[in-house]
Amino acid sequence: MPISESDILRWLREEDPVRLEELFAEADRVRHENVGDAVHLRGLIEISNICCRRCAYCGIRVDNPAVERYRLSREEIMNCVREAVAYGYGTAVMQAGEDYGIGREWLAGIIAEIKRTTPLAVTLSLGERPDEDLAAWRAAGADRYLLRFETSDPALYAIIHPPAPGKAPTDRIAILRRLQELGYEAGSGVMIGIPGQSYRSLAHDIATFAALDLDMIGVGPYLPHPETPLGSRAVAPAIDPAEQVPNSEAMTYKVLALTRLACPQANIPSTTALATLNTVSGRELGLQRGANVVMPNLTPPQYRVLYEIYPAKACISETAEQCQRCLEGRIRAIGRQVGQGQGGRGRRA
Ligand code: SAH
Repeated sequence: MPISESDILRWLREEDPVRLEELFAEADRVRHENVGDAVHLRGLIEISNICCRRCAYCGIRVDNPAVERYRLSREEIMNCVREAVAYGYGTAVMQAGEDYGIGREWLAGIIAEIKRTTPLAVTLSLGERPDEDLAAWRAAGADRYLLRFETSDPALYAIIHPPAPGKAPTDRIAILRRLQELGYEAGSGVMIGIPGQSYRSLAHDIATFAALDLDMIGVGPYLPHPETPLGSRAVAPAIDPAEQVPNSEAMTYKVLALTRLACPQANIPSTTALATLNTVSGRELGLQRGANVVMPNLTPPQYRVLYEIYPAKACISETAEQCQRCLEGRIRAIGRQVGQGQGGRGRRA
């Protein structure tokens, strides 16, 4: 029996360290039974920080004039992809702001080249692109798409995620269903501790992961960026303080563990946002409390510093090689091994 929404809510409010250790142990056991001990590596390439949206939480939103903007060339992307192959990663993840300078045909050509010349799975995380783009990229060979719904509370979502200027509001849940119809493995997720996020809505977020039958689920703490309306408190959603979810490391582990119990088969990363809250052992603790994936960064360092969705991002000044060595060492140190192959849907290690 999957965990119920009312049990999820009770666990989110649990503070007893002994009980929480039981929750974490159960999540680790369920992870081991369902997806095994392998930790799959997804090489992250942040291909553009140009964005047309004004998400109230995100540092690369269109009206942050302080950001120097970049878009990688095809050659730069292919160099990162070749590094992914050399390091033994199974997947290349191309992520960006919602940048319509990333043209449908241009990206389809790159996806096709990656699929033709490497054994990698290709994951996209490019925002709310029109159906024709999503279909063309799938036809070119893209395997997976990540689109977090950020919160399942419609009132909070409307505040933190306004529509593109001059456009109608979009429905990320509907786009996720469309991605599944197109044959993508679909990933989603939420931020933890968004101002205005209640325990009840976070419990509903986790239940929604299961209802959507997602292949991948990314959850990480909300980290305030001072150059954003939410981070500077220019926008402050009203909420009873007793109902507000903290954006803490402790809460992130609870959500990771509960997500594993709700979605035993999902691929769940131990995120960089978590590692930013605890650079010493956040990654490892995430992997020991439900997660089975990490996403080493392949973005060339001169661009990496410009992809500042939140401040003080972990691993910001490392090279791709340093990231690879560091993460593989951390995986081995906790008695797990690096996953071989693409590490896709429902594949036991
Ligand atoms: N443009 C793409 C990719 C966005 S970056 C998209 O919108 O899907 C990927 C994720 O980073 C977002 O979905 C969001 O959940 C997270 N993120 C953005 N700003 C953040 C912040 N200030 N703190 C924590 N996570 C953040």
